[in-house]
Amino acid sequence: MPIQSFIPPQRTLMGPGPSDVNPRILSALARPTVGHLDPTFVGMMDEVKSLLQYAFQTENAFTIAVSAPGSAGMEACFVNLLTPQDTVVVCRNGVFGARMIENVQRGGANLIVVDSPWGRAVDPQQLEDTLKQNPQANFVAFVHAETSTGALSDAKTLCEIARKHDCLTIVDAVTSLGGVELKVDDWGIDAIYSGSQKCLSCVPGLSPVSFSERATEVIKNRKTPVQSWFLDQSLVMGYWSGEGKRSYHHTAPVNSLYALHEALVILQQEGLEQSWARHKAQHQKLAGGLNKLGLDFIVPQEERLPQLNSVFIPKGVDDVAVRSYLLNEYNLEIGAGLGDFAGSAWRIGLMGYAARSENVALCLSALEDALGRFSA
Ligand SMILES: *Cc1c(COP(=O)(O)O)cnc(C)c1O
Repeated sequence: MPIQSFIPPQRTLMGPGPSDVNPRILSALARPTVGHLDPTFVGMMDEVKSLLQYAFQTENAFTIAVSAPGSAGMEACFVNLLTPQDTVVVCRNGVFGARMIENVQRGGANLIVVDSPWGRAVDPQQLEDTLKQNPQANFVAFVHAETSTGALSDAKTLCEIARKHDCLTIVDAVTSLGGVELKVDDWGIDAIYSGSQKCLSCVPGLSPVSFSERATEVIKNRKTPVQSWFLDQSLVMGYWSGEGKRSYHHTAPVNSLYALHEALVILQQEGLEQSWARHKAQHQKLAGGLNKLGLDFIVPQEERLPQLNSVFIPKGVDDVAVRSYLLNEYNLEIGAGLGDFAGSAWRIGLMGYAARSENVALCLSALEDALGRFSA
C-alpha cells in the first residue's frame, strides 16, 4: 500500500502551545502562493510589520517576523546583540530562562545568573542587588511569561531596574504577546521575541521580533559579524524593509505569513486590551472550576499567567493515563509538566482562540470524568 495523505484528528489544543488555530487563519493559509518578491506580497509584509508594531505596542522600525519558530527569535536576539566583551544577567525561573543561559554561553559572553524558584516570578530586588554588585553588566535578559511553570514576571519593573543600571533588555514574550499586558515602548524593552503559535493562535513556525533604536545601534556598530548568517538581522532587515530596494535574503514562508497577517488582523479587530481581558476572564472561570475539582495551582495568585494554568497532579492520580484518556476520549490536549515539574503537574493553556467559554467547559467536564476514573 502506498503511503496515503495525512489527515490529522480534530483536537482541542489546551496545552502550552501550539494553541487552537482560528479557522480564519487556516483558510488564509490555503490561499494561492505568490512569489516572495511579488509586489502584492511585499505590500502584505509591510502590513505585517505595522500589525506587529500594534501587537508589541511599539514604534520600533525594526519589527519583523523571523522565518522560524520562537527559539530562532530567541537566538536572533542573543547572536545579534552579544559579543564576548558583554556581560549578561539572565534571570532564570524555568526552562526558557535556562535556554537563554545556553545562548549566552554558546555565544561566549560573560554570564551572571539570577535564580528564582520554579513557579515564582523573577524577584526584582534580586536583580537590583545583582546589578549593584556587577556594574560591568550591560544586558539583562528574562522571560516575561514562563510557559514551563505558568509564572508571570513584572516586565515593567525589571526593565526599569535594568535601565537604571545602563543595561539593555532582552525579553522573551513568546507566551505573553496578545495574552497579557505588554508595552514595549512604555516599558523600554530593547529586544523582544515572540512566537506565532501561542496567544496569537497562528500556526507554528514564525517568530515576531522587535529591536529598539538603542539595540539597532548596537547591531549596526558591531565590529565582528554576527556568527549566524541566517539570523544576521542587518541582512534580514534589508529583506523586510520597503522603499523599493528589497533584496533577496531567503525565501519567506509565504503562506505562513498570510496566516500571521490574518492572526494579527483578528487581534486588531478584537483590540489588544480586549484580548488581555478575555484571557483573564476565561482564566478566572477555569481556575474556579479547577479548584472545585480539588486541583491546586503551582503559582501564587498574583503571579499567575491567565493563558497557562499549571496545577499539581493530585496524589494517586495517574498522569499519563489521564492525559491519554483526554486525548483519546475527548480529543483534548493538555500539557505535561516540564523540567522540575515533569510528572507532577499539568499545564492547561488558554491561549488565543482557545481562551473561550466552550473550551473551559470542555476541559473541566473532561477532567472531572478522567479524575473519577484514574484516581487511586
Ligand atoms: C514556546 C516557547 C518558546 C519556544 O518557542 P518555539 O516556537 O517552540 O521555538 C520560547 N519561550 C517561551 C516562553 C515559550 O513558551
